Amino acid sequence: MKTHPVYLNGNWVITGDSMPVINPASTEVIGRMSVVDRVHVAQAISDAHAAFQAWREVTGKGRGELLEKIADELERRREEVARIITLENGKPIGQSQGEVALALDHLRWFAAEARRIYGRVVPQQVESKRHLVLRTPVGVVAAITPWNFPLMLAVRKVAPALAAGCPVILKPASQTPLAAVALAECMSKAELPPGVFQLLAGPAEEIANEFLENPLCRKISFTGSTEVGRKLIAGAARHVKPLSLELGGNAPVLVFEDCMVDEAVAGTLMAKFRNTGQSCVAANRIYVQRQVYDAFIRRLTEKVQALEVGDGVDPQVQIGPLIDEAAVAKAEEHVQDAINGGAELRCGGHRLGRVGFFFEPTVLSGVGHSSLCMFEETFAPVAPVTAFDTEEEAITLANKTIHGLAAYVFTRDLGRMFRLAEALEAGTIGINDGLPTTSQCPFGGVKQSGWGRELGIEGLDAFLDTKHISVDLG
Ligand code: NAP
Repeated sequence: MKTHPVYLNGNWVITGDSMPVINPASTEVIGRMSVVDRVHVAQAISDAHAAFQAWREVTGKGRGELLEKIADELERRREEVARIITLENGKPIGQSQGEVALALDHLRWFAAEARRIYGRVVPQQVESKRHLVLRTPVGVVAAITPWNFPLMLAVRKVAPALAAGCPVILKPASQTPLAAVALAECMSKAELPPGVFQLLAGPAEEIANEFLENPLCRKISFTGSTEVGRKLIAGAARHVKPLSLELGGNAPVLVFEDCMVDEAVAGTLMAKFRNTGQSCVAANRIYVQRQVYDAFIRRLTEKVQALEVGDGVDPQVQIGPLIDEAAVAKAEEHVQDAINGGAELRCGGHRLGRVGFFFEPTVLSGVGHSSLCMFEETFAPVAPVTAFDTEEEAITLANKTIHGLAAYVFTRDLGRMFRLAEALEAGTIGINDGLPTTSQCPFGGVKQSGWGRELGIEGLDAFLDTKHISVDLG
């Protein structure tokens, strides 16, 4: 069985300690990943800091060219990397290919943005003075990422950090480190200078504590649960460590009576069932206006019953396994709780098979507003649907959450589109669009879904300091 190395200061290192990586479709161990201790983390930060001066002096154009080389290498290996994602995460192979394609697009977007880190000249109030605003790289960045999009979410941090002139240390989720190893191999192949990109893995809290406490680490960019986000905020308070946080979601879908029902069903399927329901922007709760409620439920249930479930390596499969046993138990708990609260099970609702972490694609109707699945992230292929009467009621229900990452609306009424775009408390709103995220637009949460934005021109902000220079010409 292969033990994969970490990538420290330009060297591939087998540390002597390792953890298993499991295929959630078979529960078999598919490899082992070397793990680091806190001494390694401190050394990685020190090496990254040593690499910082030379890296920041590379021009934006030069940094962009290196990012393009990384993208070229990833593109060359796209099929193989997609397969790695499916094996360690379980998602259907077509969706893993889509994840690699998005990661490539993110890399190329930030490769181009590296040239456009503009400052500005500000008109003076005192005749002899001149004012400049400069943007400079923050320094060593630590990136902590989750398992649900193991390649793409790493690239959303690593690519803009590198484009901005920052060295970056990536700690991927323990369940899916192998996509990050493939990314590190692309960095190595592109001959990124030693220390500019490093990959480590291992005990999350111990690693994060070094990131938090080491003064040479200037920024932590985290994607994961709101619960861990809160812990990082508490730890950062002591050291006033800057954080960017992409946290959990609880996205509502609002289906209005004036929508095209088939289009709304197709969009809801995409928003709910992509990645087997394990997406931070996954539709978590579905509200349908009473006039189209029955038609919507009927068509949604037909489509969901037709979804092919199985091992993601099979190209016919649309729904893979969940990530682990705890995820299956959570799905079961949410379904049972909704039924106990009076919901009707339209299809699915149970674990599937004896091997692997499979759960049937599920539709529940008439779900009570206080059911767990209406206010906690279910993170499974479970679609709870309930009815509403007025636009005002729909907005109130949609916003009744501590989260605010994404929301989806299906309507053909232009006035309603604008009213909802303004009223819904979410960082991304898909209107007749079940897949709104794109490299060139900002992504992130309001309320307890996070701080800051990734992607778009805003995606570099997290890695840049803004300085005012005042020159008195005398
Ligand atoms: P998680 O448990 O918060 O883990 C995310 C990362 O944090 C992993 O690398 C994990 O390492 C690490 N971690 C765990 N405990 C930590 C600690 N005490 N200090 C620092 N880091 C720690 O989240 P997950 O289960 O992997 O991912 C699912 C969650 O992420 C969902 O809530 C989802 O909505 C959210 N998410 C948000 C976005 C977004 O863009 N807003 C995108 C995707 C996912 P180990 O794996 O080693 O434990």
